[in-house]
Amino acid sequence: MGFAIAIDGPAAAGKGTISKAVAAHFGFAHLDTGLLYRAVGARVLAGVDPIAAARALVAEDLEDAGLRTADVAQAASRVAVIGAVRAALVDFQRAFARRAGGAVLDGRDIGTVICPEAEAKLFVTASAEVRAARRHAELVARGAEAVFETVLAEVKERDARDAGRAEAPMVAALDAVVIDTSDMSIDAAVSAAIAAVEAART
Ligand code: C5P
Repeated sequence: MGFAIAIDGPAAAGKGTISKAVAAHFGFAHLDTGLLYRAVGARVLAGVDPIAAARALVAEDLEDAGLRTADVAQAASRVAVIGAVRAALVDFQRAFARRAGGAVLDGRDIGTVICPEAEAKLFVTASAEVRAARRHAELVARGAEAVFETVLAEVKERDARDAGRAEAPMVAALDAVVIDTSDMSIDAAVSAAIAAVEAART
């Protein structure tokens, strides 16, 4: 029998790190659903129609190393407001959630729309300033030129679009455990997430 863990929350809250650690801890497969929207966004930047791009998406497209840029992130959040794009990506995510060995999916609407029956739901968040500071540090470490105020403005712009859209807006499911990582170390946040999943398993 499968066991689905839904982990939602805004960009740079620690969702990705926590999801990977939780998946490794329980021996579950992990899907970063943001990559689906990023892959579609990248195609749109290359001139492809968003709905056609979403319908043509294959698993290998998620391995493209170019999906991590700020431009692709913004393009992803713009295509993510389109209902037909979201609809084209639902079946792949639901099938992944129900795989036999257990699954962790992270995104914005996993606990609310994709997998409302998930056995465990987390909403991982942090203040916009803390998230922008983390993203800024990441960019600088990669040798990119980044201005904190620009990163903060992008974080807030994406939050507003993701939380304000009509289709599957980013929101904590009513039964999600909320983890605010603003003042937490990575280890503490991972431990809190594992404890919340353990509690849901018993
Ligand atoms: O998580 P990540 O930052 O890679 O997501 C990129 C964008 O994809 C988000 O800003 C959001 O607009 C969209 N997204 C979504 N639903 C998901 C995952 C991502 O709308 N489940």
